[in-house]
Amino acid sequence: MKHAIQPSGRRFIVTGGAGFLGSHLCDRLLARGDRVLCVDNMRSGDPRNIAGLLRHPRFEFLDADVVVPLPRLACRDADGIFNLACPASPPDYQRDPVQTFRTSVLGAMNLLELARALRIPILQASTSEIYGDPEQHPQREEYRGNVNPIGLRACYDEGKRAAETLFFDYARSYGVEIRVARIFNTYGPRMRADDGRVVSNFIVQALRGEDITLYGGGRQTRSFCYRDDLVEGLIRLMDCPEAAAAPVNLGNPEEFTIAELAAIVLELTGSPSRCVDLPLPSDDPRQRCPDISRAEALLGWRPTVSLREGLVPTIEFFAALLDGTDGVNRRRGAA
Ligand code: NAD
Ligand code: UDP
Repeated sequence: MKHAIQPSGRRFIVTGGAGFLGSHLCDRLLARGDRVLCVDNMRSGDPRNIAGLLRHPRFEFLDADVVVPLPRLACRDADGIFNLACPASPPDYQRDPVQTFRTSVLGAMNLLELARALRIPILQASTSEIYGDPEQHPQREEYRGNVNPIGLRACYDEGKRAAETLFFDYARSYGVEIRVARIFNTYGPRMRADDGRVVSNFIVQALRGEDITLYGGGRQTRSFCYRDDLVEGLIRLMDCPEAAAAPVNLGNPEEFTIAELAAIVLELTGSPSRCVDLPLPSDDPRQRCPDISRAEALLGWRPTVSLREGLVPTIEFFAALLDGTDGVNRRRGAA
């Protein structure tokens, strides 16, 4: 017999909660008995990600933009804020770069003011992009990065860097209890088929038998973290007051070239697709791999899912999405 989950009494605000990572975080918080206020303006989210939660007794949804302060009444008994609101895929965040920058900076400031007023901790979903095209490898949190401040990626990279600045200034100036997670490339079910990131692109192309679009010959590297590992890291980080002093890298330190990723996707899907070489987008980082020793020491956290293991359910998710059976799976909470 299944035991009913005891409500914890804690209530978390999850901004960006209808997106890929945010919706999985909402699921996990609810599963451990917390209450969740999910805030999203659906800029890059998908209503299907939270459709199954709308009738959950401990889940509420607020359709709002973090660029403006959230209504205090809706937030008044919150115990913590996870700030994930921001488009994460390069095509998404470059579509309206000014709004992306606004979301990162004004969103961070509004939510920090809220955390300050309510005296609650706040976690920022920062990114490995703050290291830019890194000259140190793997990247440790002390590394200050190599970002082009006027390039096409700057709205995201510099927006997230400015948000980190605000977080640490609010901690120093006003005593706000902060956490900063520097998230490295994360993938899994509920990525959008058209969001333009490499894992979703390659799987969808392979399943459709289309050409695999390798940018720059696929020689650049990334380190891919499965969504369950990442969400576990975010929850441990929020629950670790000792982690307030500095940013924490969260990612899988297994590093692959993009060409290797393409080969694995082709093998796992059994696809006849062929790789085609396209130009590398400007400022595309040549290498990326997290040093996770700080997360290991502070949180006792390290990823448990290998790339091959995590790609299997991700491919199943996209296969169901493409043949139209995902709605059934999502109502059952399978994705
Ligand atoms: P996503 O695009 O799927 O989710 C972002 C969510 O934020 C969407 O639901 C979107 O509608 C919402 N949003 C955007 N602007 C908003 C605004 N102004 N007000 C309210 N809601 C807004 O992206 P994701 O992959 O789930 O990423 C979540 C967070 O994690 C982002 O902050 C991203 O920068 C960070 N991150 C993700 C990765 C990754 O690999 N997935 C890596 C590094 C950092
Ligand atoms: N990439 C690629 N083909 C695609 C999409 C992306 O070769 O269809 C490359 C991209 O140039 C980058 C890497 O894959 O080097 C990761 O891209 P993604 O957009 O997923 O994340 P980010 O660049 O933000 O790490």
